[in-house]
Amino acid sequence: MQEKLRELPSVDRLLQDERLQACIARFSRPTVLEAAREVLEEARRTITAGGPCPQFEELVQMIAARTAQSSESSLKVVINATGVVIHTNLGRAPLSPEATAAMVEAASRYSNLEYDLAEGKRGSRQVHVERALIRLSGAEAALVVNNNAAAVLLVLSALARGKEVIISRGQLVEIGGGFRIPEVMRQSGAKLVEVGTTNRTYISDYEAAISPKTAMLLRVHSSNFRLIGFTHAVELGELAALTHGRGLLVVDDLGSGALLDTAVFGLAHEPMVQESIASDVDLVCFSGDKLLGGPQAGIIVGKRTLVDKLKKHPLARAVRIDKASLAGLEATLRHYLRGEALDKIPVWCMISMPLEEIEKCAQEWARAFTAVGARAVVIEGESTVGGGSLPGETLPTRLVALTVRSAGERGVDSGAVKELATRLRCGRPPLIGRIDRGRFLLDPRTVLPEQREQLIQTVRLALAELGQAEWARSLRV
Ligand SMILES: *Cc1c(COP(=O)(O)O)cnc(C)c1O
Repeated sequence: MQEKLRELPSVDRLLQDERLQACIARFSRPTVLEAAREVLEEARRTITAGGPCPQFEELVQMIAARTAQSSESSLKVVINATGVVIHTNLGRAPLSPEATAAMVEAASRYSNLEYDLAEGKRGSRQVHVERALIRLSGAEAALVVNNNAAAVLLVLSALARGKEVIISRGQLVEIGGGFRIPEVMRQSGAKLVEVGTTNRTYISDYEAAISPKTAMLLRVHSSNFRLIGFTHAVELGELAALTHGRGLLVVDDLGSGALLDTAVFGLAHEPMVQESIASDVDLVCFSGDKLLGGPQAGIIVGKRTLVDKLKKHPLARAVRIDKASLAGLEATLRHYLRGEALDKIPVWCMISMPLEEIEKCAQEWARAFTAVGARAVVIEGESTVGGGSLPGETLPTRLVALTVRSAGERGVDSGAVKELATRLRCGRPPLIGRIDRGRFLLDPRTVLPEQREQLIQTVRLALAELGQAEWARSLRV
């Protein structure tokens, strides 16, 4: 083993190789040096564990590959073939070309972000979206912040610190990524008062819990789960009526917050921002990048006096929206104002996509995969909206189901399908689908039209590589 360790070339000798010299010219010496040290360290570990000593040639190739890899960006564009429209791990809502262009402009140039052009003095970044939000929601005033978690924290901190907030036990949810309503409440300095039971809460439960310390009744959208069976929740209007004349606030954390009616597309009706405002609640907050289909943002709409209080709170500065997101949000809201949301906003294009279009796409893909010897069929399936909206609801779709055989074996092989999924995840661009009963499934609904051709190429390449998996393995030592 010691002998083998001594066979390893030194870093200096490796870096003198002309291919690595070319790498140095392209990526800088420290980058290649770091890659070389890592590769040598790994080789030492392999040898210590009883493995073979890699050849000089192999080491050079590994270092070159490592160098190229480390200079690639970590955040990559991926193809979402999962059928989950608003996939939080894949960046939620993709934006329209107009929203994207607005973000690039705002990021790459100076703008009147906080500058009143008519007066020639300091202005507010909120003016760029406030009027549109008022028109679309019917509220008196609006404020946007970094995300909806920040919106909820700001509302509670500014309006209920040191006071009590009443909430139904059926709404004490965890949204994902550790956003738990009771913990946010504690962070804000408000005291949580739970009422009702997990499945049933009545207006009388709220009424009985009101004390001189009560500041607010909070409704939270259950987002990612659904209560079915023996249940009862209180309508927003009832909550608003209860607080009238008592100096209490009703706040609605809508989560996703739709501006369009999801029921039109055969889904359940997702609560809409306009409805909450029409129910006379004091404030409504929702996300910018869920069903709204815009960039990351937290949107608060409601009574003018309260919004003004929020604007002045110190936390408002800490959670303010950045200029690029603000620009993307303004452009997205404009699609709604022009009545073109269904044609322009990708999230809504996907939700409203005709089944025939999905079917046509799936057939085309299946043909392209069959042509390279794969077994691909089009089957019926279901897409979901995701993003904490419409839990349990699905849209009928068509899926391409790929069955792969590993070399020399007959029949379905679940190891081979996992290998295909891994290869696709590491593809260029990475492609994410799902595995179901030994098959790899691709849902055309969530694949952006401009990525369809790329998807075909990526899958064909992975299938070709997979057909040669044994051979490739023997080459890799
Ligand atoms: C998603 C969600 C949040 C958090 O919103 P972000 O924009 O992710 O910060 C808060 N409340 C509810 C009910 C949600 O569904």
